[in-house]
Amino acid sequence: MKITEHIRKSDGKTLFSFEIIPPKKGKNIKELYNNIDPLMEFKPPFIDVTTSREEFVYVEKAGLLDRKLTRMRPGTLGICAAIKHKYEVDTVPHVLCGGFTKEETEYLLVDCHYLGIDNVMALRGDAMSHQKYFEPSKNGHLYAKDLVTQIQNLNKGKYLHDVIEAENKADFCIGVAGYPEKHLEAPSLQTDLKRLKEKVKAGADYVVTQMFFDNKKYFEFVKAARAIGITVPIIPGIKPIAVKRHLQILPQVFRIDLPEELILEVEKCSTNAAVREVGVSWAIAQSKELLAAGVPVLHYYSMGKSSNIKKIASAIF
Ligand code: FAD
Repeated sequence: MKITEHIRKSDGKTLFSFEIIPPKKGKNIKELYNNIDPLMEFKPPFIDVTTSREEFVYVEKAGLLDRKLTRMRPGTLGICAAIKHKYEVDTVPHVLCGGFTKEETEYLLVDCHYLGIDNVMALRGDAMSHQKYFEPSKNGHLYAKDLVTQIQNLNKGKYLHDVIEAENKADFCIGVAGYPEKHLEAPSLQTDLKRLKEKVKAGADYVVTQMFFDNKKYFEFVKAARAIGITVPIIPGIKPIAVKRHLQILPQVFRIDLPEELILEVEKCSTNAAVREVGVSWAIAQSKELLAAGVPVLHYYSMGKSSNIKKIASAIF
């Protein structure tokens, strides 16, 4: 079922969902199931599965560093299909511009449709570590908006190379990313919001936000989005802080601010177990306020670990 349909059918009740990251190459899917199992009691109508683009890894060879191009976390679609059928839950594969040609994207979407996957998140992806700016693959998309257009074309039965007539057209519900504290490359929040509106105009059905730790940022973002005519659901993405290093990593990678009060609480901790508790308490407080504000879904970034998400969900749902 489409995410928008899940939201419509919930009759104003806030839903629980979460995002998982495929395990690194060589791991077994059982590990993933062990992390999903404890969260199923909260009845998520959907689970997102991220996609990692190819990357360069450096391996030492005869005292020299050898650069290899590889995909460290393969299998998003396979994982989506496995989870969907094991738990009878909708799964949302993240589809990236980066690292994919338009043809490869089409093959992926055709496979999604074949497997009964009704929702996809359309994302640009980040620049590779050696690149300053994002570069699309040859014959790939530069912006998520263009990917949304390709998916919408498929929904109309339009393939890239019109050699077959689709008997059973796809009808994907499309999610896109939104940034309450603006995307790191955007010159201003207002410009970024205009770009978000373009994605919605191209056919995006809902938005999932980047993580934020101050709900005010989300409320203001939704208000500003509504003011420029973005009417689709805007789902807040929540990540509990789990290690002290997050104080440096999260602002650096995602260009988000952490509230002073949270920083002080984390700095007081002498172990990462204590940091995790602070992260859980903060996320519970955030979730309670968002729930009271009637958000459609509370969407959690699990980062492959479910124990803290379980504690939060137990306090909220
Ligand atoms: P876009 O919407 O294309 O925007 C990228 C930048 O370009 C923005 O600054 C925007 O303002 C600007 N822009 C857009 N259109 C134009 C235009 N026409 N002219 C000039 N500028 C323009 N990354 C992964 O690799 N894998 C994942 O699974 C993944 N999942 C994510 C899930 C969520 C909920 C979120 C919020 C992010 C996720 N990301 C993921 C990260 C995302 O890929 C990066 O943040 C990426 O840098 C931007 O992706 P986007 O889809 O927002 O890009």
